[in-house]
Amino acid sequence: MELGIVLDYSLMRRVIVAGNWKMHKTLPEAVDFVRRLAPRLGEGQADVWLASSYTALAVAAQAAIGSPILVGAQNISDQPDGAFTGEVSLSQLEDVGARFALIGHSERRHVFGESDALIASKMRHALTGSLTPLLCIGETLQDRQDNRTEAVLEQQLSTALESVDVSRCVVAYEPVWAIGTGHSATPEQAQETHAFCRTLLGADVSILYGGSVKPDNAAALMSQPDIDGVLVGGASLDLESFLSIIQESHQP
Ligand code: PGA
Repeated sequence: MELGIVLDYSLMRRVIVAGNWKMHKTLPEAVDFVRRLAPRLGEGQADVWLASSYTALAVAAQAAIGSPILVGAQNISDQPDGAFTGEVSLSQLEDVGARFALIGHSERRHVFGESDALIASKMRHALTGSLTPLLCIGETLQDRQDNRTEAVLEQQLSTALESVDVSRCVVAYEPVWAIGTGHSATPEQAQETHAFCRTLLGADVSILYGGSVKPDNAAALMSQPDIDGVLVGGASLDLESFLSIIQESHQP
């Protein structure tokens, strides 16, 4: 598939507003969303990414051609091909125009039992192709209450990024207790954790915050020095609410 603009995320710290549609949107809904969003995007705002279901990925990516929107996947296999029923490979994703893939989203870790080792394997495999991996990390409420947040994040990052060119990755910090709960981390809490991740990742990696990001808290979160954008679940399903979040963003 012909690609639109090509942004190389290596060695660039970009501001990104990424939507994660999870298991939502039919083909017509996905296409309609992309077509209505594209003409309303302005100069100087965040790069806009949409993580679609596999089924709508091809049509959403096609609808995004010629626009600044990048369409990607919510997951990826760690295997190039073979007898892996229900899985989708890197080359299949590239085929339909995917530009990035979420890896290690909290729901993959906690609902589907993906291990740190599997996530690391997905990271290494994704980087053999052209996709940008968007690695998701985050602690549970119990981890936070036990003062283990930094240890958990360090473990998740060091396993996932072993033997990986970190400059080609984007990372999303998403506390598990904030996802889908309506209880976002406060901007100060998120900044403190992002600053810790920054010490491990370096100055050039974009680190997004995710977990109950809404139009009314996005600006305060994105104004923090180490928060380079947001990963938005529920509030990315509605065009107007996703657009209001984008409009709160600007490239440095
Ligand atoms: P939420 O989801 O914005 O609905 O909390 C975020 C995510 O799961 O990435």
